[in-house]
Amino acid sequence: MPILYFDNAATTPLDPLVLREMLPHLKKEFGNPESPYSLGKRARSAVDLARTRVAELINSSPDEIIFTGSGTESNNLALKGTSTGHLAASAVEHHSVLESCRFLETGGARFDLISVDHLGRLNMSSLGSSLSRGAGLVSVMHANNEIGTIQPILEIGKACRDRRVILHVDAVQTFGHLKIDVRKMKIDLLSLSAHKIYGPKGVGALFIGSNVCLTSHLHGGEQERHLRASTHNVAGIVGLGMAAVLAGERQDQEALKQSSWQDMIRDKVLHGMERVRLNGDPELRLPGNLSFTFDFVDGKELIAELDRRGICASGGAACATSDPRPSHVLQAIGLPQDIPHGTLRLSLGRFNNDLEIEKLLRVLPGVIEKVRKKHPLYEMLF
Ligand code: PLP
Repeated sequence: MPILYFDNAATTPLDPLVLREMLPHLKKEFGNPESPYSLGKRARSAVDLARTRVAELINSSPDEIIFTGSGTESNNLALKGTSTGHLAASAVEHHSVLESCRFLETGGARFDLISVDHLGRLNMSSLGSSLSRGAGLVSVMHANNEIGTIQPILEIGKACRDRRVILHVDAVQTFGHLKIDVRKMKIDLLSLSAHKIYGPKGVGALFIGSNVCLTSHLHGGEQERHLRASTHNVAGIVGLGMAAVLAGERQDQEALKQSSWQDMIRDKVLHGMERVRLNGDPELRLPGNLSFTFDFVDGKELIAELDRRGICASGGAACATSDPRPSHVLQAIGLPQDIPHGTLRLSLGRFNNDLEIEKLLRVLPGVIEKVRKKHPLYEMLF
């Protein structure tokens, strides 16, 4: 049975062009970029080219980019590396941001959680109070991985810059998908990851504006300006660079295609099915992201039933699938808890096609009905 993959927010397949670029560095070009001979120098050039490619996509300079092992690591370095005693982050941040802030809190730092509204948009007055109380660093994601809401980073950037507060943006879900200009948006630190843009897993990067001074939490060699001791993952970094080039070239066209599928699925589900709502901002959301909550549906059962039909989708963030409680994101937007429900996140990507979307729309209503009928409270409903 062919697999229909609608979980691109969890991870994306490797683009064959990315693999092609990586392969020589997994074979003959295996040198260490720190080595002084030609093999090492070629590896260094490959890493530098990737750095330039990543920098170009966010309008930064290459010497402001350091490579890391993941988006998670970039977030940890951004937050733990900035020595401020007072941090603030939105309530819908990824766990790698929230848990880093909570860790710093146990060490004596002050941590403010900035609230969001029912669509997941940052509450600007909550941000304002945190800034007035003296926060030294604010962390807000560009777009949410579960519900797709895009935050007004330009406005947040201005508010932070006016007060000389460092702004960290987790752009793991948007790098390569949406336009990012770190200068215009007044971003000081920005995290990104390769595996969300058809690059390899286990490689990320952190943009560090020249005004920010970070301390590494990894001690060892001098790689990446002393900020990320470890031998470079050359093939992975090359893959990230190539994935960035492809994303830059295809961004507009892919956003258009995915938005049109998104509209079609949204309309069919909201108008054709009962007791369902769309989570997140209906307009300002990631192209290709849909998060639906169905009443009287067991979310786990729904994902399993789709899986039996070869459809990969998720209930929310892939890193929290074992937690039975509604996610912190759904709680933060105030999703009503009085009726049992299940959430389905569909995230579309480069390798989806019209036929797959049609099949999804053919299969989904029957699957929802089947799962609903199994729900212990179904009788009460109909
Ligand atoms: N931040 C966001 C918004 C994410 O969606 C993810 C991954 O799902 C991460 C951070 C972590 O990235 P990585 O998987 O590269 O550690």
